[in-house]
Amino acid sequence: MTTDIPFNKPYVAGNELAYVAEAIELGNISGDGLFTRRCQQLLEQRFGIGRVLLMPSCTAALETAAMLFDIGPGDEVILPSYTFVSTANAFVRLGARPVFVEIRADTLNIDAATIEAAITPRTRAICAVHYAGVACEMEAILAIAERYGLRVVEDAAQGVHAYYHGRALGSLAPLGCYSFHATKNYTCGEGGALCINDRALIERAEILREKGTDRSKFSRGEVDKYTWVDVGSSYVPSEISSAFLFGQLERLEPIAERRRAIFERYRTELQPLADHGLLRLPFIPPGCVINYHMFHVLVADQPTRDALVDHLRRRSISAPFHYVPLHTSPMGERLGYVPGDLPLTEALAGRTLRLPFFYAITEEQQRTVVREIGGFLGADS
Ligand SMILES: *Cc1c(COP(=O)(O)O)cnc(C)c1O
Repeated sequence: MTTDIPFNKPYVAGNELAYVAEAIELGNISGDGLFTRRCQQLLEQRFGIGRVLLMPSCTAALETAAMLFDIGPGDEVILPSYTFVSTANAFVRLGARPVFVEIRADTLNIDAATIEAAITPRTRAICAVHYAGVACEMEAILAIAERYGLRVVEDAAQGVHAYYHGRALGSLAPLGCYSFHATKNYTCGEGGALCINDRALIERAEILREKGTDRSKFSRGEVDKYTWVDVGSSYVPSEISSAFLFGQLERLEPIAERRRAIFERYRTELQPLADHGLLRLPFIPPGCVINYHMFHVLVADQPTRDALVDHLRRRSISAPFHYVPLHTSPMGERLGYVPGDLPLTEALAGRTLRLPFFYAITEEQQRTVVREIGGFLGADS
């Protein structure tokens, strides 16, 4: 008998459903009510962020960040090619050119040592994507940005409750972006947040998020009517989403503890395969504290990876590969990139797969995953 082992599965960890009911009883299920404020305060206080604005997605937060940086046609933005499309789209949709640079072989994060060579007079910003909740080399990246007068945004979609030298991801650069998508650690299905650490950007961020109006000021009683003052979009999430999310955020520690146990079980049980040189386990550099967002492994080469993904799929285990490097996508081609431009990124992306990882995964399911990987890679252990 085989039972499916999905890659991800929704879960309820505490009061999520009661809070959704409460939001409805309170009479406001549109935006910026009690639960949106509660989530924002919790994130600000827990992670030392100047101001947090809840958003309908991390994509919306990245788009707002690009607008706050006044990115426009002719500008260049430096980012890794090994990332989600939204990281690039946030800038491309404003007419900017994404300048893709290599990732580090150990963390799969942007390689800070390759950034300076990519800077031109048109460069305006750097986007640091914290892959798997492992921090980028923020000290080096912020120093380069300072030297060349560039803006920095953290794509911390995967980095909620992860740390770099004791400071939360999302609190390190002027702007940071969180995701609460169903596949992330803390979720409301679709959701995100913009973390604002540069006070000068708060007022305009509120306006962009509220359809280009000063409604946020109006809600606080700072103006007696609200009106159209800038460009903007509809980036306020519903109270139904925020209520569900608050139920998860207030259970931050127990959820993290559970994910830690899942991560450590994979690490312990896969260590013999790593010792035999059959796969590579996640690497966490000194100074980084992870949030156990994902468990990914690297195998010898792409044919092995593809065959392993197939092998697991035939046994009803969903262990997908991750990003196809953006510069090799049809859109990347339209931007003038060709395969071979970033050989390290291409090789690493081709070797990576992610194991099933969700709140309610059982020890038995994890053992099945490990056993099937071991069987395929031909280890005797
Ligand atoms: C999930 C993710 C996003 C997008 O998040 P949404 O909330 O779905 O918009 C962006 N960047 C990275 C690195 C992600 O992992």
